Amino acid sequence: MAQVIHSIPELQKWSMDAKKQGKTVGLIPTMGFLHEGHLSLIDTARKNGADAIAVSIFVNPTQFGPNEDYDCYPRDFERDKALCESKDVDVIFAPAVNDMYAGDLTCWVQEEKISKGLCGLTRPIHFRGVTTVVAKLFNAALPDLAVFGQKDAQQAAVIKRMVRDLNFPVKIVVSPIIREESGLALSSRNKYLSEDEKQRALSISRSLHQAKAELENSQIDPETARLLVKESISAAGGIVDYVEVLDAETMLPRESPAVKHITIAVAAVFGKTRLIDNIQIKMR
Ligand code: AMP
Repeated sequence: MAQVIHSIPELQKWSMDAKKQGKTVGLIPTMGFLHEGHLSLIDTARKNGADAIAVSIFVNPTQFGPNEDYDCYPRDFERDKALCESKDVDVIFAPAVNDMYAGDLTCWVQEEKISKGLCGLTRPIHFRGVTTVVAKLFNAALPDLAVFGQKDAQQAAVIKRMVRDLNFPVKIVVSPIIREESGLALSSRNKYLSEDEKQRALSISRSLHQAKAELENSQIDPETARLLVKESISAAGGIVDYVEVLDAETMLPRESPAVKHITIAVAAVFGKTRLIDNIQIKMR
C-alpha cells in the first residue's frame, strides 16, 4: 500500500526518515491522470538507484494561463493511486492547492532564457509556474533524484538550468518518451482528442521519425527537415504553433552547425487540443 500524504511537513519527515535508513529518495512530479509514460519514470527512478519513491500528483494552477484547461484538466485520484501501487510506489504526495500556495504568495522562481522560446511564447507564465512548483516540491520531498520526461523537453531543460543555477542538491534524470504503438506520444491531454483528430495527430510523430531518418542519413539539412515536419502537420489539418531545430542539450537555438546533437520540437493544435512532441537526432 502506498502512503498518501497531503501535508508538506509530513512529506519532509518521510523523506528524512528514509534517508536516515540509508535510502535514496526519488521524486516523480506529475499532474496525475497517469499513463504508461508517467509509470516509466518510476522505473527510471529505480534504475537510477532510488529505493524510496514518491510520486506527486498536483494539478498546478500557477502553470496554466487564464484561458487554458486548468478547470477541466482530467483528474482520477483513485485510478492514479492504484497505478502507483501497481508500481510499488512508497508515497503519493497529493496536496490541496492551499497546502502548496499561501493565498498571498509573492515569491516565484523564474528561469529567464530557455523558458522564453517555444512554449514560452504562447504560454508566457507557464514555466514560471513550473519552476516555482518544482522548487517547492523539491523543498517538500527533499529528493536525492527527480525524474522528468523527455516528452516535455523544454521543461526538462528549464529544470536542469534551475537546479544548476540555484544549487538544488538533486540529480535530474530525463527519461525517454513513451508512445502508443501508432507513434502518438502518450499524454493526459490525448483524452481530449476525437478518433479523427487522433489519426490526424499521427502526422506529428510520423514526420518527426521521417525527418530523423533522413537527417541521420544526411539526405536533408535541418532546415529542410523542419519544413518537412511543419508541412506534414499542416497537411493533416493541424495548426502548427512551432517546429524548431534546437541544441538537444539546452533546447536553445544551435550556436553553430557544429552542434550535431539536435532536437526537433513541435507544438501543434488538433481540434481544441494542443499537443507537443520532439525527437532527438545525432547528425553525422
Ligand atoms: P504531466 O503529468 O503531464 O505534468 O507529466 C509529468 C511527467 O511525466 C513530466 O516529467 C512529463 O515529461 C512526463 N511524461 C508525460 N508524458 C510522457 C511520455 N509520453 N513519455 C515519457 N514521459 C512523459
